[in-house]
Amino acid sequence: MSEFPSVDHDTCVGCQTCMNTCPKGDALWEFNDEGKAVFKIDNKDECVHCHACGDSCPASAISFKEQ
Ligand code: SF4
Ligand code: SF4
Repeated sequence: MSEFPSVDHDTCVGCQTCMNTCPKGDALWEFNDEGKAVFKIDNKDECVHCHACGDSCPASAISFKEQ
């Protein structure tokens, strides 16, 4: 098991910093109809667990959970 990002959509402001900071960019991130960040769990093997997404999020909306 490894840790992957999980976004609190009540807190996410849709700034897209997570995707822009992630070394894998849009391979791992997309945005839903409300502009909230969604981690592409289907592509989770691409994640290098660097935590850059969570560290860069201005709203502290990203936590890491075992998946
Ligand atoms: S960086 Fe944080 S607030 Fe911005 S889109 Fe990503 S999860 Fe949402
Ligand atoms: S932990 Fe790193 S590789 Fe994984 S989604 Fe976040 S920024 Fe991208």
